[in-house]
This record gives sequence, C-alpha cells and structure tokens, in this order.
Amino acid sequence: MGDVTAPPISTIDDNSLRLTLATLGEPAWRAGQLRLAAWQPFVTGFVDIRQLGAPLRERLAETLTFSTVDVAGASEADAGATVKLLCRLADGLAVETVAMETVARRGIRRRSTVCVSSQVGCAVGCPFCATGHMGLRRSCTAAEIVDQVRAAAAALHHRDLGPVTHVVYMGMGEPLANLDATLESVRVLTVHGGISARRITVSTSGVVPAIDRLAAEGPPVTLAISLHAATDALRDRLVPLNRAHPIHDLVAAGERYARRTGRRITFEWCLIAGVNDSTEQARALRDLAARARAHVNVIPMNRISDSPWGPPDPARARAFLGELHGVRVTVRDTRGNAADAACGQLRALLEARRELRPDGTLGPHRRVARV
Ligand code: SAH
Ligand code: SF4
Repeated sequence: MGDVTAPPISTIDDNSLRLTLATLGEPAWRAGQLRLAAWQPFVTGFVDIRQLGAPLRERLAETLTFSTVDVAGASEADAGATVKLLCRLADGLAVETVAMETVARRGIRRRSTVCVSSQVGCAVGCPFCATGHMGLRRSCTAAEIVDQVRAAAAALHHRDLGPVTHVVYMGMGEPLANLDATLESVRVLTVHGGISARRITVSTSGVVPAIDRLAAEGPPVTLAISLHAATDALRDRLVPLNRAHPIHDLVAAGERYARRTGRRITFEWCLIAGVNDSTEQARALRDLAARARAHVNVIPMNRISDSPWGPPDPARARAFLGELHGVRVTVRDTRGNAADAACGQLRALLEARRELRPDGTLGPHRRVARV
C-alpha cells in the first residue's frame, strides 16, 4: 500500500492530480491516462502501467496510493462464481467485500455484482446481523469503498469473470451513517468507474435525514430500505434505529426519494422464523409496499453464531410470500451460504478461524491467499 499519507489515485480530485503530475514534470493529459489505467482490472500497481516509463512509475508509487485496501485473504463459493475478499485497511482493520457473478438468463444479461462495506462494524446493532454484534470501529473513507470495488474487479478478472456491472452497499456498516464518504464513493464509481447510478444500490437501516440528502446531492442510485418489520414495536427490536426514525417517517422518506429520483425503492426483509414471518406482518408489509410502490426483497435469514434465530421452514416462507400479492417481490439469491459467503457472513467465519481479531484487526495466524 506504500505511504498511507499519499493521496489515493481513486479519489484524488482532477486539479490535485494535474498538480501532482506537474511537480513530476509531466503534462496534464497524463491525468486521464493514469486514471484510466488505474481502473483496468489487470493493473494492480503503478508498476503495471506499461505505457509509462519506469522512472515515472516509481515516482508515482512514492507520490500516490494505488489502493487503500490490501487483499489479505480470498475464498470462493458456488463453483467459483462467488469470491469473498478480506480487505485489510492501512491501520490494520479489515472489512469484507463479496463479488458475485450471475449468468445470463431470460432476458437478463450476465452480471458481476460487488458488495462493499462502508464501515468497520456498525453502531446500529441489529440483533440478527453479525456486523451489528461487533459495534462500530470506524467509518471507511471514500477511497476505501471505491478500492474494494477495484480489488474485487481484479479478483474477478483473475478468474476470467467480470467486469463489474453492479455495486451494492450491503456489506459491513451503515452507509448512510457515513454519508459523505458514501456520496463521494458513488460519484467516483459513476464518473471514473463507469458504473451507472441505476446499477448501484445503497442499503440503509433508515437514517431518515441522510435519505433526503442522498436524494438531493447524490446521483439517482437505487435505495434499499432494510425494513424487516412493519410495526414499530417489532422494528424497535430488530432495527434499534427505528426508535429515532419510526416506520411512518422512514417510509415517507422512501416515498420522497422515489418521487425525487424517479427510482423505485426496495424494502428488504430478512425473514426470521417466529419473529417477523407471521401473516400479520406480511399483510402490513404488503400495505406499506403498495403505498410506497416499493419492490420487496425477502432474504431468508443467514444464521450467525451470536443469535439463536434462523430462517423459517419453506412452508412458512411460502405462506409469508403468498400474502404479498400485488407487490413486486424477489427472494434474494442466498447462494454462497453453504460457504458462509453471504454479505455480513465472511467476517464471522474468519473470526471463528481466528484470522480476524474481535477488534476488527487481523490476527497473526491469518491465511494469505493470492487473488
Ligand atoms: N446497514 C445497511 C447495509 C448493510 S446490511 C442495512 O442494514 O441496510 C445489508 C443487508 O443485509 C440488510 O438488509 C441487512 O438487514 C441484511 N442482513 C444482515 N444480517 C443478515 C442475516 N444474518 N441474514 C440475512 N440478512 C442479513
Ligand atoms: Fe448495521 Fe445493517 Fe447490520 Fe443493522 S443490518 S447492524 S444497520 S450492518
């Protein structure tokens, strides 16, 4: 990673990049060339940018940070179609990043989706979430978010997969509690990464004022609201942030977002046996989704070690889904579960293997795999 005080190539602004190049005696047009090269998935450091002379490559490596994340471990699931990365940050903390390849089917093109983390840990503390159990260590910088996508693109390329078509902010952390970095990372992904806003999904547990700021200041990304409960009494327990921003205010913010951006919002529902899988909850969800014209994404809960909860049996899940008539519903592809690949799960797995310390840093026994 080199000198951590050197500005990251992914988020340095155009003026500063031109100035940096000028101090190295290089013309301004090199800026565009450099940015383009840094986004190539086969370029893993300034040394790989062969269009530049060796002395300039060396000077660049001293002056700029090529990546703010270092892939400390990688593992695969689904016959290689899911790649999980453990990304070490400059201060020794680590986050997880998941890349998933979906083959083309019924009019839907091949996709490569990268799931990024926006924080190391999370302060919201949802009891069914592995990240929630670790508390918040710190927020990621915009460069750390963007560089997870670049690292995932390189990992996919290495496996003859990719390029990255979609990015979802569904890894560790609450992106709207880290709004400035989220906004900046989305800007960079759209402007320099070539990923259109409609292919970026920001998932939130419901930071209402930040939803309005995202609508006003961000490009029109897809907004996913992690609802999980349709009554305040239950949501107060499942998503403790609900006590500050109850369902009525949250759904209203979602409706404002949809009006302002023209984008349909999504309600996410982590289906937990005996907790939020009742017919009453399903009917209340249907009413909320119909009102907000929201798409509903049901995710059978992935078991985590810190919770006795789990997914309902298939019959109960079908009954729940059966109540959602008239609403656009998808059931999230939970592939990767067998190998604990789902977002939010990798960290827990590595922790169990003592590769990641409970404070979010990597332990000395870490397994290093090449990407
Ligand atoms: N903090 C944000 C984004 C990260 S979590 C949010 O909560 O929306 C991304 C999604 O994974 C959320 O919908 C979250 O509720 C869900 N999730 C977390 N733990 C889960 C688990 N054990 N099983 C299924 N989904 C889970
Ligand atoms: Fe945080 Fe999202 Fe996990 Fe809740 S589900 S603890 S908001 S990461």
